[in-house]
Amino acid sequence: MTVKKFGGSSLADADKIRQTFEIIRDSSSSPLSVVLSAMKGVTNLLVEAAECAEKGDRKYRDNIEEIQKKHLTCLDELFADNKPEGLEDAIKELLLDLSEILHGVELVRECSLKSMDLIMSFGERLNCMQVAEYLKFKGLSARYIDSRDIVKTDSTHGKGNVNFERTYREVKRALHDSDKVIPVICGFIASDEDGRTTTLGRNGSDYTASIIGAALDAEQVEIWTDVDGVLTADPRIVPNAFVIPQLSIQEAMELSFFGAEVIHPYTLVPTTDKDIPVYIKNTLNPSAEGTVITKNYTKKERFITGIASIDDLSLINIEGGGMMGMPGIASRIFSSLAEAGVNIIMITQASSEHSISILCRTEETSAAVDKLNENLEEVIQRRKIQKIDVVDNLVIIAVIGENMIGQVGLTGKLFSAVGEEQVNILAIAQGSSERNISFVIEQKNKEKALRAVHKKFIG
Ligand code: ASP
Ligand code: MG
Repeated sequence: MTVKKFGGSSLADADKIRQTFEIIRDSSSSPLSVVLSAMKGVTNLLVEAAECAEKGDRKYRDNIEEIQKKHLTCLDELFADNKPEGLEDAIKELLLDLSEILHGVELVRECSLKSMDLIMSFGERLNCMQVAEYLKFKGLSARYIDSRDIVKTDSTHGKGNVNFERTYREVKRALHDSDKVIPVICGFIASDEDGRTTTLGRNGSDYTASIIGAALDAEQVEIWTDVDGVLTADPRIVPNAFVIPQLSIQEAMELSFFGAEVIHPYTLVPTTDKDIPVYIKNTLNPSAEGTVITKNYTKKERFITGIASIDDLSLINIEGGGMMGMPGIASRIFSSLAEAGVNIIMITQASSEHSISILCRTEETSAAVDKLNENLEEVIQRRKIQKIDVVDNLVIIAVIGENMIGQVGLTGKLFSAVGEEQVNILAIAQGSSERNISFVIEQKNKEKALRAVHKKFIG
């Protein structure tokens, strides 16, 4: 079994859908399962429609129209005068349901995460329905599968937690005949115990593919996208960045958490459990080798495999002589941030214990600081903490590589390369895995630093 997942960019219009069909048709692997995202841009249109409807802004109707036009144009171009019976009606019926739901949101002026999940689910349903029919039209044996019947989550809307045991059972049961019929499976969407629609979080179709792969003990999972594979750095900043042929699972996870937007960070969890390799391939350039992510890792010549970064961050510095030797202070700081719903990206505390620095997204800092001031009020009053200040306009750079482990002097070389560019480093963290060294610099120095490190270590 091979699972092939195609993202929105591989399904942007009739031409792209034809290219996707060719990849499926020419595939030498059998049996095959196909997982699809919504057509490019459709999920965003749905989210925007819901937000407009909630505000009572009738613009949501334009979005429905745009989605309708995208799909009906696609049907015309894919099937011309030979549309399969009932297909256009089925698509229109779904769009009618969508308008009714959005009208409901407009009337009650409220769009809960529950409703948002339901609204977003239309993108994958519409697309998988049309593509499944197109595969049949072109002579393949295919079947549309609504993932809400097979992928089961809890009731956390917006990003459901998968019930793997139940899901694997349902997938095996529903796809038992996939050696005869290619299932065309909706990515991203799922349902909870009560059958209510949930989703796996934005860009979650990759995750669906790996869940299906793990359930069926697939030989491989392929993520088809619009780049040739995982790159050594962002090519918009480092023009000579190139495709990394092979990544270890840990490297890929580090890179994806650090914003290398190639795969959804959870994707590798189910496949790793079952030791299934994941390939990243380009629909527009199918003959390119791509990147393979495997458990068995072959040693590379370079110390650093890839560089990634996250923009728009702020550092919250909590400083005070009274924090020294005060057990429980870190825990109070972290639980305050958790209470404020703030995600911590990096933490440093020098061993003098005089200050703790926390890196988080700029948009979350004011909530974080308010909560810290509230929860630590008496510590601040007693002057054990002297100040909490915030530095904005920062970016974190992470250098990642399995080969960094145990390399004496690597950190020295890395920071000299950054220093030679006159770039100041505000905070540093290296996990004990030694696969990732992260440092924080000012946003304005990002390009200089990325290029310098890439040049020195990757070439
Ligand atoms: N269509 C969903 C999104 O745009 C899921 C996906 O593309 O993977 O987030
Ligand atoms: Mg997507």
